[in-house]
Amino acid sequence: MANKLIFLKVTIIFLLSFGIGCFVIYSLESRRELDSRALATQIASSHAQSIEKQLSRSLSTTLALATILKENSSFPNFDSVAADLIKRYGGISSLQLAPDAIIRKIFPLEGNEPAIGLDLKKNPKAVAAIETRQLMVEGPFNLIQEGVAVVGRYPVFLQNDKTGEENFWGFTTALIELSQLLAIVDIHGLVSKNYHYELSNAVFIKDKKTIIAQSGSETLENPVSVEVQVANEKWLLSISPKSGWYPFFYLVWEGFLVFIFCGTLSYMGYRHLCRTEDLKRANLKMTQEINQRKRAEERVMVHAETLQAHNKELESFASIASHDLQEPLRKVIIFGDLLLERTKNLDEKSRNYIERMQKASERMQVFINDLLGYSKVSSGLQFELIHTEKILEEVIEDLEARISESGGTVEYKDILDLEADPFQMKQLFQNLLSNALKYHKEGVPPVVNIHGKSLDNGMVQLFFEDNGIGLEEKYRKQIFKPFQRLHGRSAYAGTGMGLAICKKIIERHNGEILVESSPGEGSVFQVILPAKQPH
Ligand code: ADP
Repeated sequence: MANKLIFLKVTIIFLLSFGIGCFVIYSLESRRELDSRALATQIASSHAQSIEKQLSRSLSTTLALATILKENSSFPNFDSVAADLIKRYGGISSLQLAPDAIIRKIFPLEGNEPAIGLDLKKNPKAVAAIETRQLMVEGPFNLIQEGVAVVGRYPVFLQNDKTGEENFWGFTTALIELSQLLAIVDIHGLVSKNYHYELSNAVFIKDKKTIIAQSGSETLENPVSVEVQVANEKWLLSISPKSGWYPFFYLVWEGFLVFIFCGTLSYMGYRHLCRTEDLKRANLKMTQEINQRKRAEERVMVHAETLQAHNKELESFASIASHDLQEPLRKVIIFGDLLLERTKNLDEKSRNYIERMQKASERMQVFINDLLGYSKVSSGLQFELIHTEKILEEVIEDLEARISESGGTVEYKDILDLEADPFQMKQLFQNLLSNALKYHKEGVPPVVNIHGKSLDNGMVQLFFEDNGIGLEEKYRKQIFKPFQRLHGRSAYAGTGMGLAICKKIIERHNGEILVESSPGEGSVFQVILPAKQPH
């Protein structure tokens, strides 16, 4: 389903971008066509002007002939003058004189003999020329001797010296072969500029266009056209690019580019959509995992609460039990003492039994006391800012007898103040210091060094260093468990509860206790406690 949706979205992206791309190509091509047409119009205009100029120049020979006639009233040296004019003005096939509108003289005569004697009064354009007294251009028409030509006829009016009137004399005519004329203006230059051209009559005769000249046989596609004005005639010069206004190559190239662009865009879209889909799936999975974990945490919390309740129950049981056990035990010891005092004649063995019973009871009393101490750690905790060094000094004072007995020394410095329960701190210092004194090497007086340090994370470190027997690395954790001892009773007295009580006190103070030691190398007990308790 998700894949289908992605496919649909990618298709929409492709179609949309392709549509936009095509529109951009269309806009670009339209603009380019406008530019191309403007350029083509410029080029066509310049060629049209050249044609106009050359045609006017060639036709002006009729005026030249007329001027000579007006000055001399006759033309004895027509051939030489005509030859000279044809040479000088160019584009002219022949020049003619037609007095009384009948062609009498032609230069060059060769090939033009059939025209001699032709009466121009039957020609409506010639008649129109007489009426308007204007140069009249006629054509284009096909020449008998091949080619296409136009004729320019100028009606000559001579003044009668006596009456002063102007009388029609006849025509001076120039026959202009267009191939020659167009060669002079280099109309073929358009082809080398990659244009097709066509020169035609602007006025359609019988709905048909008369083509004067063209670059090829094909019809021009949507050409630009400019007018060529020659006397009474109007021609059209039309041109269009050989490769068309929308060159195939450009279209294919631009289409290809748009296709590649749209393809890339769609691919990127596809990648993005896939990634989003993956992300969604991952999110869903993560949410499920979080929910699972939350449920597990809730279960753990319930367990922890139950465990805490059990612990409390156990502690209160231990506390009550130790209280209740102490009383009968005290009685056993007292009555044992009384028994020893009163029965003087007890044999040695019985006396020994009673004494061993007494010692066992005393040991049990110590056990029970330690157990009671352990269970009391959890209750009645009161934090306050304590003067740590003062508490340590009190502990040292309490242990004075043991220190001097062992010949040991205790040194301390940098004991920082912190927020804690003063009674539990005293208990902590007492246990650590008495252990440091107790576990000394035989024959080596204990040297205990206590010093503190403040940490960047708001904690306070206290080190209890001794030069005692040390312990193996594997016991580093075990010694903090209740009733865990590494020695027999005969070697070192104790119950194995001292460090368990320390650990419990420190945990209640949100701290940590660690030991660094190796056998025979002494031990360093490290206590880390917060300077300020979190409320
Ligand atoms: P106890 O001292 O009553 O045996 P503790 O809980 O205080 O019980 O200590 C547990 C064990 O850790 C001891 O039996 C002893 O083996 C070891 N221990 C404690 N303190 C030291 C110390 N400073 N140097 C070497 N061993 C120690």
